[in-house]
Amino acid sequence: MTKKILILGANGFIGHHLSRRILDTTTWEVHAMDIAQDRLSEQLSHPRFHFFKGDIRLEQAWIDAHIQLCDIILPLVAIATPATYISDPLSVFELDFEANLPIVRATVKHGKRLVFPSTSEVYGMSTDEEFNPETTQLVYGPVTKSRWIYACSKQLMDRVICAYGQQHGLRFTLFRPFNWIGQGQDSLAAAHEGSSRVVTKFLYAILHGQPITLVDGGAQHRSFTCITDGVEALMRILADTSGLADGKIYNIGNPHNDVSVAELANRMVAIAAEYPALRESAAKVHFQALPGTDVYGSGYEDPRRRIPNIAAAKTDLSWSPEVGLDAALRSIFTAYDACA
Ligand code: UDP
Repeated sequence: MTKKILILGANGFIGHHLSRRILDTTTWEVHAMDIAQDRLSEQLSHPRFHFFKGDIRLEQAWIDAHIQLCDIILPLVAIATPATYISDPLSVFELDFEANLPIVRATVKHGKRLVFPSTSEVYGMSTDEEFNPETTQLVYGPVTKSRWIYACSKQLMDRVICAYGQQHGLRFTLFRPFNWIGQGQDSLAAAHEGSSRVVTKFLYAILHGQPITLVDGGAQHRSFTCITDGVEALMRILADTSGLADGKIYNIGNPHNDVSVAELANRMVAIAAEYPALRESAAKVHFQALPGTDVYGSGYEDPRRRIPNIAAAKTDLSWSPEVGLDAALRSIFTAYDACA
């Protein structure tokens, strides 16, 4: 059945991959908004892609009209870079929570289905071996540690959305990405100014033969997930007509790609050496361990480990991640190599 999907933040990392996949593999219509369009060149010429350049904070009328028009609403506009949680925590609250709340409310008002990005960050510093949406306690540091404003903003929105489900019958699905990585995650300019996430920062260091910073020595772990696997899970959520995904929270991550940040750095340097154009700069890279509070500021704290329990996504969506860490990293280097 043809669906109409509204993607707010379509030019973002998830939005541009997802919109391309929808256009390539379905007959669905995509209505999209973003403040930028540099990653949407393929989509913009597609007859089923309808784009409006605008800011979600200023375009309530357009958003309201398009929520009425569409079947499923995906509000993907958010700041999700830890450096910003420390340097500008208010902007995180204002965009991720305040600016998204009217969109959630309009979705309730018009009786549409909401697919909303929560985050693996909501689990905070839980010491559970695996993070489970049903059982894991959410653990954050003191209020002076502004690192947690993103987790708190997202957690509160998760609770508001669940409450709208309970009290107003909102049909919703929450998904929690676990360190999704891939081509087009952050710009290298963001890496240059220090505001990108770890893989882009390491890529930048490797391209420029600069030191790789291992925050607090790099012993902390993450489960890195290839964007193609993440988008596949989203496609299954969007395609669900059984109602099975309604009211559910899905961890979308790859527990087999659990590595320390130091291991990630070593693998990236080794993979870079496979590319003749990168061999020389990769050979110059060395590692420097720095305290997290020196790198990010005094508001920094960090989860030690973050492994998803993906049983719900496996059962309900028949989904499992398929791309190993090295293959995911190679796709990033290959994309860079093709543009260089
Ligand atoms: N990190 C690092 N060096 C960097 C950037 C990040 O060691 O140059 C670490 C960071 O401290 C964190 C992990 O890499 O433990 C992942 O950081 P990212 O910013 O990608 O996102 P997070 O998973 O913390 O949300």
